Amino acid sequence: MSIYSFSQIWVYQQCPKKYQFQYIDKLEKEFKSSPDLILGTSVHSCLEWLYQQVNVFRIPTKEEVLNKFHEIWEKEIKEVWTDLLYKWEQTAEDYIRRGEHYINDYYEKYSPFNQSKVIGTEMMLTFDLNTDGDEKNKKSFRGIIDRLDKQDDETFVINDYKTNKQLPTADDTEYREQLTLYGLWIRQKYGKYLKTIKAKLHFLHFDEFDEREITDEVLNPIVEKYTKLIEEIEKAKVQYAESFNNDKNAFPTKANNFCKFCEYQNLCPLFLHMNYWDETVSWWELWESSVKKLVDRYAEVSKQATELDKEKSAIKEVLVEYAKEKHVEQLFGNTSDLGISSGMNYSAKDKEKFIQYLKNHGLYDKAADIPFHKINSLIKSWDLPEESINEYLEWKKSRKLTPKKKKDAI
Ligand code: SF4
Repeated sequence: MSIYSFSQIWVYQQCPKKYQFQYIDKLEKEFKSSPDLILGTSVHSCLEWLYQQVNVFRIPTKEEVLNKFHEIWEKEIKEVWTDLLYKWEQTAEDYIRRGEHYINDYYEKYSPFNQSKVIGTEMMLTFDLNTDGDEKNKKSFRGIIDRLDKQDDETFVINDYKTNKQLPTADDTEYREQLTLYGLWIRQKYGKYLKTIKAKLHFLHFDEFDEREITDEVLNPIVEKYTKLIEEIEKAKVQYAESFNNDKNAFPTKANNFCKFCEYQNLCPLFLHMNYWDETVSWWELWESSVKKLVDRYAEVSKQATELDKEKSAIKEVLVEYAKEKHVEQLFGNTSDLGISSGMNYSAKDKEKFIQYLKNHGLYDKAADIPFHKINSLIKSWDLPEESINEYLEWKKSRKLTPKKKKDAI
């Protein structure tokens, strides 16, 4: 039984190949600290210290809390071995100022910190997504809660501090899903003390928070989603481990906006060819060309083919209309002739109803023409049960070439 963290699942959703490099092949990636990371740690540790004081009935002054922040920042900076990279002409002072602002605004908003009782800070948790399965089929999760509070009305609140400068949009669900899952742990652990669980995200840069109740309606679909994702990862792991020379497709590549920051880009099949010297290959009987030239030629030919297709349809439309008007069935050019025949074709008024009609009359198999990409999306969305995948489908390699314009920077 493996225990998953939210960041592991997040990497898998971002790109299964990256997940393979990082968590299955366990390829070393150089850990680099950054000013953002140090700021996040310093603010989190400072607020942890503050609530530890509150929890023993002492309210530190704002100056004390700010001093604590400076003390932690200095300690964290001393522990960094390499030079820190400050982007966009920022300096250490800019980061310190940000931290001071976060602490100051937070203190002003919540002092004297009597809104709730603190149950714990920086709580490490491990919990099962499913409690009914046997030990082998258990799906377990681990995580850290920044702070867990209990309010007077038997409400437990999971607090999470964010120090980044991007405010998530309303449909950005990543953080919310994480805290919702932690709600399951609270229910398993503290169920008898509570009536309500809430998740509260503190966006310190904006002096804003997002608070939501974790009801069964919110929790159940998320548990289901993560259970399925874990099952998918476990299946891919078996496929990867059992196949000869490790199945390269068990964890496929998935191009995304973070590829340019990916530590494994020089190993990734999507980008590997960038590091190759140009090679010569034979094609079309005795012709030879460099691979790079062939790639460019393929893109050029594809573009021309698309333009020719468009031109063909436009010409067809004009000539068909012309022949109809003149009541002729053949058109003559200087070097070619065109026969024009007409016929009748049926199309379904209501596709669903028509398919059902064909099925009822045992004709569906004769008429069905299911595109391959549709079958794959059915499998991905879990609409086809495993038995039917094995019985009706075979796993075949497919290749698709998609030309695109070269970008200057990747
Ligand atoms: S470069 Fe992109 S596609 Fe390749 S492993 Fe990294 S995230 Fe995945």
